[in-house]
Amino acid sequence: MRPCFQEMISEAVKSADTWQFAGATDTGQIRLHNEDSLAWDEKTGLLVLADGMGGCRGGEIASALAVDTIMQAFRAAKGAPGPVAPLLAYTAVSRANQKIFEAAQQQPQYQGMGTTVALVYFCDNRATIASIGDSRVYRLRAGDLAQLTVDHTVVQEQLGRGELSPEEARYSPQRGLLTRALGVDPVAEVDVREVPVLPGDVYLLCSDGLYEMLGEREILITLSLHSGDLQAAAERLVQQANASGGYDNISVALARIDKPFPANRARGAGAAGGRT
Ligand code: MG
Repeated sequence: MRPCFQEMISEAVKSADTWQFAGATDTGQIRLHNEDSLAWDEKTGLLVLADGMGGCRGGEIASALAVDTIMQAFRAAKGAPGPVAPLLAYTAVSRANQKIFEAAQQQPQYQGMGTTVALVYFCDNRATIASIGDSRVYRLRAGDLAQLTVDHTVVQEQLGRGELSPEEARYSPQRGLLTRALGVDPVAEVDVREVPVLPGDVYLLCSDGLYEMLGEREILITLSLHSGDLQAAAERLVQQANASGGYDNISVALARIDKPFPANRARGAGAAGGRT
């Protein structure tokens, strides 16, 4: 039987060895500002990454608002039972959408600002994944790297309709053109899914500045080589993207699962970090 909400709160004393999180971000070689934001909180079991857009530094504001709002929403709901995790993710992202949309309406210089978002929330041996835009979540399991999100881009839609080959998509001038983003409409259409988690899994959240510069094979190799030291893995991925051109801001957040985490058991009390 699943523990009730109150029992979950009373069991919020957690061990530090269930999972480890890490992350890194960089402006890259071309851009003047870093409009990506990311944060993670091992105690809450949440990682969030956002890639903002908009003039007058609106992109930085939008991505920071998204990450902060989502982090706050999950922290406020600490101990929420696993079955409500997808609803919690949807609600948190929707709240962030509303905040960004309202800020853009109220301040003309931020009109049109928006952001992508990717989040992973670990609860009850599952990962709840929410995304909008073209930031991605990957999972490394048993030597395989799997993309767990779908890009909300014009090119992805063309690929889906068979109008482009993967090779044509790679060089399409419409790459990066989003079909969905957070903060640009009163209501955001967010993808939310749940996947079962196994010890040994490594989850990677990244902005397009990473995967546009590095192929999945390079990401897989670096993650596999450095999975024992997540911070080193995150920094190495950013370094490699910079070495490959660094055309955009580059952000990476990583989670390695070390132990099962059923809902009625203790979970890792760890550090919070990130850049917003
Ligand atoms: Mg980007």
